[in-house]
Amino acid sequence: MSKTIIISNRLPVQLQISDGGLSAIPSVGGLATGMKSVHSGDDSLWIGWSGLTDEDIPNILEPQIDHALRELNCSKVRLNKSDIEGYYFGFSNRTIWPLFHYFLEYSEFELDFWESYKAVNQKFADAIIEAADEDDIIWVHDYQLLLVPEMVKAKRPNATIGFFLHIPFPSYEIFRTLPWREHILRGLLGADLIGFHTYDYERHFLSSVRRLLGLDVSFNDIYLEDRVIKVDSFPMGIDYHKFSEAAKKSIALQGKHRSDLQKKLDEHKRSAPGTKLIVSIDRLDYSKGIAKRINAFEYFLNKYPEYKEKVRLIILAVPSRSNVPQYQLLKREIDELVGRINGELSTVNWTPIWYFYRSLPFENLIDLYTSSDIAWLTPLRDGMNLVAKEYIATRTDKTGVLILSEMAGSANEMNEALLINPNNFEEQADTLKQAITMPKEEQMARNMFLQKRLQRYNVEVWANEFMNSLKSQRKAVGTFV
Ligand code: UDP
Repeated sequence: MSKTIIISNRLPVQLQISDGGLSAIPSVGGLATGMKSVHSGDDSLWIGWSGLTDEDIPNILEPQIDHALRELNCSKVRLNKSDIEGYYFGFSNRTIWPLFHYFLEYSEFELDFWESYKAVNQKFADAIIEAADEDDIIWVHDYQLLLVPEMVKAKRPNATIGFFLHIPFPSYEIFRTLPWREHILRGLLGADLIGFHTYDYERHFLSSVRRLLGLDVSFNDIYLEDRVIKVDSFPMGIDYHKFSEAAKKSIALQGKHRSDLQKKLDEHKRSAPGTKLIVSIDRLDYSKGIAKRINAFEYFLNKYPEYKEKVRLIILAVPSRSNVPQYQLLKREIDELVGRINGELSTVNWTPIWYFYRSLPFENLIDLYTSSDIAWLTPLRDGMNLVAKEYIATRTDKTGVLILSEMAGSANEMNEALLINPNNFEEQADTLKQAITMPKEEQMARNMFLQKRLQRYNVEVWANEFMNSLKSQRKAVGTFV
């Protein structure tokens, strides 16, 4: 019987080593949830990095870790500190990430990063080759592993390989600046199915394949000498049920059972009735447009001063990649901006911005979503943006307004949201006013459509559609057993 092998940079498991020994806790993130139906039972295996480097793992614990992972149908790729520096913080996050998000000026083209990326991709590929039989189905995830499909195909030509990119694929004009552009494309073309979040990313990829490799492309098929590769879009959804149920539960909690954060939010609403809460939630990343959003908020308050003391912006910025210099600079910029604006505009009764630099437990995230009248998400580029979808899923009474950047992949499926260009402050200020004054009936009418769509195309449907398409690729090449 053939099995399914999933590969991602990180395993969906949190390993913790403490005096008491070892714990391996399955993660509950979006990808892990979506893959539940794919990664179930003994005929599936998930290969990835455990989150601990060789230097972190005492030799004596190695067998125990392997055993704990095996129990969860997982297997680890061993990486050392220098691998993580070069492959992860280097090539993945200082070359590919900025380039694919159109931050050309932040992309570093360092040979050492590239060498490390190749070597680590080979480590992942070797782990797959060791585990895979000829007729297995292999699903490789994301920008850290762009070379893996070709490396595996070379040794397992009959395995069916799928690849899904969770970030944007940039236009040819951006992609062509990468010194190793052909290698990256050939790496991906080891797959039989290549998936993107949106049709635009798919189109950009096909255009690069045609122009840089001169291959024959027809509609969404790429013709090689011995096989045809299918390219398609699969917009990733969320675990809708989990978010809407958590929202119902949070709203139903009474008095002392409510979380401390919820009590603070309740108190705010009581003391300043009629004030609107605007929330924005992102990893602290330059692609998310956080600094621009804060500037746009100041612009809004100056353009429409009647809203001073009537609105509050809550910013949740989740720490991310803090040893990459651009992220440290951004952190400082945001700290200063928030400090300056609060310093200049606050009154005895009002602080315009509440700023949290931390990650919040799931329950508190739900409290923020359910208590905020408006979600304001302004990425300059974003592969998808799941926060937009999560906010809508938690609006159990269908009220609430989503303002979303048209540069987010999710904007393609969320036309009923107020879509904005994050660089246009005039438009942002006017859209904020529109959101603040939007009648409840209009909010509900818009959200009804959004909720229906998100409910239908949830993350499980996303994973199943990709897997079904991959299986039909297997049939197409005639090795289906
Ligand atoms: N999130 C989280 N902890 C927090 C804030 C957010 O786990 O304190 C989650 C949020 O629920 C969402 C994810 O982080 O699922 C962010 O995904 P998104 O696609 O919006 O952006 P990404 O960080 O993947 O670029």
